[in-house]
Amino acid sequence: MANIILLGPPGAGKGTQAERLVKERGMVQLSTGDMLREAKSSGTEMGKRVAAVMEAGGLVTDDIVIGLIEEKLQKGAPGGFIFDGFPRTLKQADALADLLARKGLSLDAVIELVVDDKALVGRIVKRADDARAKGLAVRKDDTPEVFEVRLREYYKNTAPLIGYYWAKKSLQQIDGMAEMDAVSAAIAKVLDKG
Ligand code: AMP
Repeated sequence: MANIILLGPPGAGKGTQAERLVKERGMVQLSTGDMLREAKSSGTEMGKRVAAVMEAGGLVTDDIVIGLIEEKLQKGAPGGFIFDGFPRTLKQADALADLLARKGLSLDAVIELVVDDKALVGRIVKRADDARAKGLAVRKDDTPEVFEVRLREYYKNTAPLIGYYWAKKSLQQIDGMAEMDAVSAAIAKVLDKG
């Protein structure tokens, strides 16, 4: 059983890898992006409040996302939690540490998917094209313009977490530019070592 964070910019492959871990290891994926999109589509008050921020590529306030995570942590996860797209700020990282400590849970690894920025926008455009081809909903923030804002937010607010977790000796960096299966194998290696 391991609780892990998948860290990396938008388009790094966090969601894809998290889905595989859910299938293969029975872990529970906690994606704040998915939770927020769900709140938006079900038309809750909170969903309405965050919609514009998300569509513009900005970050939703810390209190909202911390509240969402707190709620999901109550349910427990025998196979471990995968934090996907959370934490995204130092305040969220501190809050997560508190929440886990209160529940007697550990944070076993922070896995950074290291990617080349220039390849990311191509991945995002492909994600939108693939969704369109399958007749699925296309994320409004998967456009080159909004992507640039999301990437800036990442460098400004989220990239500092790399140093934060490195200092805590939790950081594991893996090559996110490798083939999907090779990335999965690298993640498995980290998980099976622990
Ligand atoms: P994602 O699906 O992780 O790319 O998230 C989509 C959008 O949801 C982001 O661009 C933010 O607007 C919002 N969001 C998701 N997770 C967080 C978070 N941990 N903190 C703040 N905003 C978030």
